[in-house]
Amino acid sequence: MSSATSKKEASIVDQKRPSDPTDSADVVFSCGRCGLTESCHYLGREPPFCSDQVRFEEDSFVLRDPFTPEYFDARGRRRVGFLLLGGKCFVSDCSNGGGVCVDCSVFYKHRFCLDCLAANMDAFPSEVQVKIQRKLDAEGKAAEQRTGGGKKKAKK
Ligand SMILES: [Zn+2]
Ligand SMILES: [Zn+2]
Repeated sequence: MSSATSKKEASIVDQKRPSDPTDSADVVFSCGRCGLTESCHYLGREPPFCSDQVRFEEDSFVLRDPFTPEYFDARGRRRVGFLLLGGKCFVSDCSNGGGVCVDCSVFYKHRFCLDCLAANMDAFPSEVQVKIQRKLDAEGKAAEQRTGGGKKKAKK
């Protein structure tokens, strides 16, 4: 078999490519619950552009924070701030299997989406239930405001 690899082409591509491969946001994150869709830089547990202390306990969608200036760590490696967009719901047959954003999920040992949490409330300890309830309430309020019912303000 004759496989002609075009080295010239490759070098041209190389020149155009950003020096740091993590510059390109080519991982697509989309929340199966609220529909948030965002391009991000990394899916996994140890983003190569974050400090060594950053290790997630689950596969996470990570975006480089455009508002944090980059810096160099003690070993001269380029480091940037990051934003955690979300992760995957731990429930294997979850309908939001593609991923859920941080607003639509709670992390307790694993990440769970609010749908699975609400359906299995009793399986979680009370402090987690409080957290879940708070998120659900916040969502309810947001929906209220969107429909124009949020005009009531606290008295002076
Ligand atoms: Zn969401
Ligand atoms: Zn779920």
